[in-house]
Amino acid sequence: MSRTLIYNAEIVNEGARRHGYVIIDGELIDRIGEGEPSETEVKSADNKVDIGGRMLLPGAIDTHVHFREPGLTHKASIATESAAAVSGGVTSFIDMPNTRPATTSMSAVADKKRIAAVSSYANYGFFLGATNDNLDEILAADPHEIPGVKLFMGSSTGNMLVDDDVSLSQLFASYRGIIAVHAEDEAVLAAARQRLAGQYGDDQPVSLHSQARPAEACLKASQRAVELARKFDTRLHILHISTARELSLLSPGDIGAKRITAETCPHYLLFVDTDLARDNGFMLKCNPAIKSAADRDALVSALSEGLIDTIATDHAPHLLEEKQGNLLQAASGMPGVRFMLPEMLTIASRDDNALTIERVVELTAHNPARLYAIERRGYIRRGYYADLVVAERTEPYHPEIGGYLPAGMMSPCDWTPYAMTEANYRITATYVNGALAFDGSRVRQMPVHSLRFNSDL
Ligand SMILES: [Zn+2]
Repeated sequence: MSRTLIYNAEIVNEGARRHGYVIIDGELIDRIGEGEPSETEVKSADNKVDIGGRMLLPGAIDTHVHFREPGLTHKASIATESAAAVSGGVTSFIDMPNTRPATTSMSAVADKKRIAAVSSYANYGFFLGATNDNLDEILAADPHEIPGVKLFMGSSTGNMLVDDDVSLSQLFASYRGIIAVHAEDEAVLAAARQRLAGQYGDDQPVSLHSQARPAEACLKASQRAVELARKFDTRLHILHISTARELSLLSPGDIGAKRITAETCPHYLLFVDTDLARDNGFMLKCNPAIKSAADRDALVSALSEGLIDTIATDHAPHLLEEKQGNLLQAASGMPGVRFMLPEMLTIASRDDNALTIERVVELTAHNPARLYAIERRGYIRRGYYADLVVAERTEPYHPEIGGYLPAGMMSPCDWTPYAMTEANYRITATYVNGALAFDGSRVRQMPVHSLRFNSDL
């Protein structure tokens, strides 16, 4: 087995930052040291990598992606999107169930794992989706095989809405794993749709998206989910929090001590609703909608206050032509997996907020691993998988798509809303299970694993 020494590193891990080195033995981390490695340590390494004082972080775990396979591979595939992930410092992902067919049975989960085993560039896991009538399947599922259950309260791409009150209560009452919820209230959405139709007819511009999916919809559904979770002591994770008002439902503190936790996504921290009227603003149409500047600022604060526990992308690729047209025609969702880490490091480097790089590491690696009890990942620790990322501070630049895929591989989704932002961090290397899977310019396919959820259910 080969030994790799990564030295001259600024290691950011477990709330601290120190100059040091890491020794990888095969797929695992064998040693973490402060300062410079000893002569013996240098000699024992087959590969020695001087990263020139750059930051070394645990690989990000993106716990909310839509990689579109099976069934929607004209938009994206597990191969193309996991390659994008690795180029952005994401070493593991958890994919959502609204594919075709929908992932609402364990046999559908197994089918996805079979695809990922031969095509993925990153370690992988798959949610089981809840429907109005698959509770038996959910309760019979092996908790080591899935991170939890995804529940749509509010319709979105690939309709998997659970709109039956009895089904909803039964799920919260009986499932002891994590319920990850998309919370938008269907009645509020319907009323907003009707109001806009009365005002604009069929000719509604995309820039009205936050009126079509207003903050009230998020608040009402999140309130209902929290009510049910409190009533039945359910382990609830509210996905993609987009409003300041929902923060009142959350409490600060360590993720390990909470029964109700929350996620937000980089696009809610970087953009505001009025950006949808800009050039290329149509790219920002997503569900839940991007809200006001006050919401954005409150969400950024909530990250350092501990009200929000994880960052994930809700990476949702579509073809650019599917994003065209008016509010009623344009697809909702945008890609983001490649820029989560550079953008979050950039926000942490700004002086208009209290977010630190140590906290970004917690939000993107430690907490996702703790939330879903992902075995031996999410930290730079001896005996853990060597999922590692090298990040470099740079001059501000506009993120661009392209260039990172191996020769001959194409991604159908070749656009990014992050081109509208300025980032000042780049990922210059990504190690997946101890192997260099991205060297700063191209990704390479290295052996990957199915995530193991060390659930004590
Ligand atoms: Zn999503």
